[in-house]
Amino acid sequence: MIDKQINIAFKEYTSINELPDADKALCNEAVKALDTSHSPYSHFKVGAALQLKSGTILRASNQENVAYPSGLCAERVALFNWGANHADDAIITMAVTAQTNDFDLLKPITSCGACLQVMAECEKIQNTPMRVLLYCINGPVWVVDGVQSFLPFLFFEDRLTH
Ligand SMILES: [Zn+2]
Repeated sequence: MIDKQINIAFKEYTSINELPDADKALCNEAVKALDTSHSPYSHFKVGAALQLKSGTILRASNQENVAYPSGLCAERVALFNWGANHADDAIITMAVTAQTNDFDLLKPITSCGACLQVMAECEKIQNTPMRVLLYCINGPVWVVDGVQSFLPFLFFEDRLTH
C-alpha cells in the first residue's frame, strides 16, 4: 500500500485591482451577467463570463425554475452556449462571481461538481485548459489554471470518445 497525495495550486489576489487588465475586465463582465440572473427562489445571483480566443465575450447567469432541478448554474449556461454556438473558438478564461442581499459574501464561490465536470469536457473538446477566475466582489479573487486543479479525479474515459 502506498499513501498518495494530490496538491492543487491556485493564486489568490486580495482584490480585483491586483489582476491584469484583461482578467479584471472579464470579472466585470461576470458582474454584468448578474443582472440577467433568474433566481427568485435562492436570491443568489451567479454571473459567468467566457473570454474566447477571438476576443468574443460570452455572458451567462444562473436560471432557476419553480421545479428546482430544471434550473441551471451560470457556468453551465455559459459553457453549453459556447458548445452550441462557439465551439471552434477556444475558451481562454472563465470568470465567475455571485451576489446576494441575504448575507455577506466574503470569499469567492466555487463551482459545483456538475459544472466542473462540464468545464472538463469543454477543455477536452478544445484540447486546451481554461483558466478560471473566481471573483468575490468585495473580497479576493482565486485564479486556477485549469479544471484539473479543481477535479484531479474527474471522470473521463478515453474509450468513450472517438
Ligand atoms: Zn454548477
